[in-house]
Amino acid sequence: MKTVRTIAELREALAELRGTRAPGDARVGFVPTMGALHDGHLSLVRAARRDAEIVVLSIFVNPTQFTEASDLDAYPRQEAADAALAAGAGVDLIFAPAAAELYPQGYATTVSVAGPLTATLEGAGRGSAHFDGMATVVTKLLLAVQPHTAYFGQKDAQQLLVVQRMVADLGIPTRIVACPTARDADGLALSSRNVRLSAAERERALAIPRALAEVTARLAAGERSVAALRSAAEEILAPAQIDPEYLAFVTPHALTPVDTVDEEVLCAIAARVGAVRLIDNAVLAPAPAGEKE
Ligand code: AMP
Repeated sequence: MKTVRTIAELREALAELRGTRAPGDARVGFVPTMGALHDGHLSLVRAARRDAEIVVLSIFVNPTQFTEASDLDAYPRQEAADAALAAGAGVDLIFAPAAAELYPQGYATTVSVAGPLTATLEGAGRGSAHFDGMATVVTKLLLAVQPHTAYFGQKDAQQLLVVQRMVADLGIPTRIVACPTARDADGLALSSRNVRLSAAERERALAIPRALAEVTARLAAGERSVAALRSAAEEILAPAQIDPEYLAFVTPHALTPVDTVDEEVLCAIAARVGAVRLIDNAVLAPAPAGEKE
């Protein structure tokens, strides 16, 4: 496994990797990350390994998608450990550019996905710069790597929708593959930010997956009212002193709020636990008719 820092080196290394294979056996699978790798990232790598002969992982803490300087400064960076994890999971090439490689002097272009996909939820909480920064860097990374497939986690459900929209709109010839949320044994969604939680905060944070599980269970038992499901979630979050930034019940593709769960619904939560902002979600489906309690 090799680590490259520039787009020129990346192209050269990819040409070398492709060169050793027949054209039909040289598909490139790409996993973009901000590093501080955990098993959620590695589950994306494993999915890429299944589909592609060549697996590229990028590590870039993209400054333009951070809307709080303190969050950018505190973001964990551990490139040596990341390289070992990536090599163990079967990554062929790491692309870890410096900011100046992606945003050279005079850089002036932004990719912006308009409308409710970016204005709601994370867009409302973090501001439009967040998704503009994300869409711009993902476009640049896809242009640099030119992969057949790229892997994104359902944990960042809105990000996944924005990337799917952007790739369709711009005609980028990469298939976007959605991967399920990887969780610790206690249910907490894996996140690079979890290392910043104290033991007590981590215990409180568990109310987030518990609230999602409760909503899922109530729905399976026949509850369809979003007001009732919201109260059930809040009853679990409040004792853990979690006052969510949003607790949303929205359609899973357009992110339109719903009052009743008649079809699949995305339940998405963002909350600060101490200084750490966490997000999690579950896709809910109503109990089939006749199976209500
Ligand atoms: P990040 O490094 O946080 O930008 O994440 C890089 C990619 O990994 C994104 O597509 C995330 O959605 C995905 N990811 C992060 N956490 C998880 C998780 N717990 N399970 C699955 N995918 C994840």
